[in-house]
Amino acid sequence: MIIVVSGPGGVGKGTVVDRLLEVDDRLWLSRSWTTRPQRPGEADDAYVWVDKEQFVTHQEAGGFLEWAEFLGNFYGTPLPDPPVGVDIVLEIDVQGARQVVARDADVVLVFLEPPSTTEQERRLRARGDAEDKVQARLEKARDERTAGAELGAHVIVNDDLEHTVSELADYIGTERRRRGA
Ligand code: 5GP
Repeated sequence: MIIVVSGPGGVGKGTVVDRLLEVDDRLWLSRSWTTRPQRPGEADDAYVWVDKEQFVTHQEAGGFLEWAEFLGNFYGTPLPDPPVGVDIVLEIDVQGARQVVARDADVVLVFLEPPSTTEQERRLRARGDAEDKVQARLEKARDERTAGAELGAHVIVNDDLEHTVSELADYIGTERRRRGA
C-alpha cells in the first residue's frame, strides 16, 4: 500500500510523518531527492541532496516514481525499493500526489491542513525561511488546498501532534482492513 502525505509548507508534515513511523513499524518512508539547498540545522538525511544535473540525469533514466518543481527546486521520489511486508509513505507535494494517483488509483491520500494561516505563517518563520519564501509558500498553499480537494484526499487538521498522528494511524488501519491487509 502506498500512503501519500501531502499538505502546504509549514503544516508540519515532516514532524507528523516522523512520529507516525515511530508508532507504526510496518511503514517505510521513501527518501526524496532534491536540488534545494539544505537549510541550517536540517538533518543530513532529510533528502538526498543533488544538483540539477544529477537530478535531470536520474529523471531522464526513468529513476523517479514522480517528480515536481516546487518554488524553483526539483523534488523527486526514487522508484521505491522497500523491504518486504511494509507500506510505503511518501511525503510529497500535490503535483507529485497527482502523478502517483495516475499510476495507481488505489493509493491512500492524506492532506494535512494547518489549524490556521496564522499558525502556518508562524511555523514557516520558525523554520528560518526568508520572508519572500514564507510569502511564496503561503500563496502556494492556496493552490495546494484546491488540488488536494480535487484529488479527494482525506483531510486531517494538524492541531496537536499526538492527536494528528493517532488520527492518521487510525485512517491507515481502516484502509489496511478495507484492503484485507
Ligand atoms: P521543502 O522544501 O519544504 O522540504 O519541501 C517543499 C515541498 O516539496 C513540500 O510540499 C514537500 O512535501 C514536497 N516534496 C518533498 N519531497 C518531494 C518529492 O519527492 N516529490 C514531490 N513531488 N514533492 C516533494
